[in-house]
Amino acid sequence: MIDLHTHTFFSDGELVPAELVRRAAVAGYTGLAITDHADQSNTVWLLSNLVDVVDALGAANNMQVLAGVELTHVPPQMIAGAAKLARDNGAEIIVVHGETIVEPVIEGTNRAAIEAGVDILSHPGLISEEDVRLAAEKGVCLEITTRKGHSLTNGHVVKLALQYGAKLVIDNDTHGPGDLMSPEMSHKIALGAGLTEAQIAAARQNSADLVARAKGK
Ligand SMILES: [Zn+2]
Ligand SMILES: [Zn+2]
Repeated sequence: MIDLHTHTFFSDGELVPAELVRRAAVAGYTGLAITDHADQSNTVWLLSNLVDVVDALGAANNMQVLAGVELTHVPPQMIAGAAKLARDNGAEIIVVHGETIVEPVIEGTNRAAIEAGVDILSHPGLISEEDVRLAAEKGVCLEITTRKGHSLTNGHVVKLALQYGAKLVIDNDTHGPGDLMSPEMSHKIALGAGLTEAQIAAARQNSADLVARAKGK
């Protein structure tokens, strides 16, 4: 299993990257992206902490670890610039903190993330049909999340993604050890969001494809 959305204590997570990676490996994960909360003020710092260590941490734990960011509450008109800053500083994956219904994320964030061509739009809340259509066209993955609160709109995201052919990924948004969902529980949550076995397998493959692309394999 792969979780492409996690936090360390470089933002509001509980663990240092080495422990997060170790605990994920022991929990049966084969891939992990470290995506701490970022805006223009800390993106360079976050990535400078990560880019030189992720491959060694991954190799030591027999898994793939990606250096990334979750652009969080970045105003829509600044998202494309922040994404470029992250790419230019070695980000292997860019997640944008979407319009979850449990936080006052600025309207237009979902659209700006998709237009910027980021990798994953996380917890996109009550995303519009038009934005889901655009995500499908641009190949931006929409996230189904096991995270409390953000997960309340999983069913809506699944319904529209299937309708318009947008790609999905399933993430935990891990902040602490207890968030590293077992594969069984993650599977149940995905089924509960309305995905079939085949659609869950396709979502897992989308995550694997993002890892493979990041590592050039
Ligand atoms: Zn988020
Ligand atoms: Zn997050």
